[in-house]
Amino acid sequence: MRDQFGRSIEYLRISITDRCNFRCIYCMPERGITWLPKPDILSYEEITEIVRQLAPLGLRRLRITGGEPTVRPELPTLIRALRAVDGIEDIALSTNGVKLPQMAEALRAAGLDRVNMSSDSLRPERIAAIARRDLSFDPAIAATAATAAGLDPVKINVVVIRGANDDEVEDFAALTIAQPWHVRFIELMPVGDLAGTEFARVVPSEEVLARVAARFGALEEAAGPARGNGPARYQRIPGARGTIGVITPLTHTYCDSCNRVRLTADGRLRTCLYGDHEVKLRDALRAGEPLRPLFERALAEKPREHELLKLKVGGLKALSEVGG
Ligand code: SAM
Repeated sequence: MRDQFGRSIEYLRISITDRCNFRCIYCMPERGITWLPKPDILSYEEITEIVRQLAPLGLRRLRITGGEPTVRPELPTLIRALRAVDGIEDIALSTNGVKLPQMAEALRAAGLDRVNMSSDSLRPERIAAIARRDLSFDPAIAATAATAAGLDPVKINVVVIRGANDDEVEDFAALTIAQPWHVRFIELMPVGDLAGTEFARVVPSEEVLARVAARFGALEEAAGPARGNGPARYQRIPGARGTIGVITPLTHTYCDSCNRVRLTADGRLRTCLYGDHEVKLRDALRAGEPLRPLFERALAEKPREHELLKLKVGGLKALSEVGG
């Protein structure tokens, strides 16, 4: 499956719900959210059918995301069904990790390969302030549960926000010394009409890496985990088991190597995280029509690069809406 610029598209990010047990300051408004009505949301059977139709066109890797995917009931049932689709080689999950201690084993047993945990602080009171929910959550316990269940690699994604958690960069980096975890620092993206996403709060990745090097010494280049799909660049504290990476949507773009499309919870195939390039699959699917012409149209329209930097703050959709 190639798009109009010859990029091979083999990676689908599937948002299975718009709901979340967090209300992160940079992702969702605190209240007044209108949730998608249940009938609009794709069933697990419908999601699986879309994957079944895309796999013969070259789809190989999936990521389940949201919203918070673990709040949708029976997630292992979906993983099991996707695992059974011919051609699918890799299934990953993005989660805030709150439910990982209870769910990691069942998810692994259902066929989940690996997990990305989003965690912006190691201090419970700060997690509660950024997530605006106090669930007395310990990210290190959740990541340990994922590793113990055999999920591999375990990546920990940290959105660095000036004045909110940028003083914890070194603490997150230190986790990689004894644990085989891959900590990735993400530049805050000014998406949605949300307070807390101002450009002034973005911490450029160069600054993050300089802080880590100042504490731990010069970092070594590292290959990064096998089966990485994405845009992170990896480095290692000398002798550490895990790695450190940065994801730099603001200071560098990686549109040239973009290998992904996204499926929203209500069945829209989006070919770029930013902007409004999408085709609606749900009604065609429910009418029993073939989806291939719609996939082809979507890929023909996939833009060469995103326009994040050209848009004003507030002009973009929050990730909770489009599936992060
Ligand atoms: N709930 C799941 C999770 O926590 O990973 C999946 C969805 S969440 C929207 C996916 C990722 O998007 C998280 O790592 C989150 O921190 C990130 N994210 C959301 N809004 C962002 C923003 N404005 N800038 C940077 N990252 C953002």
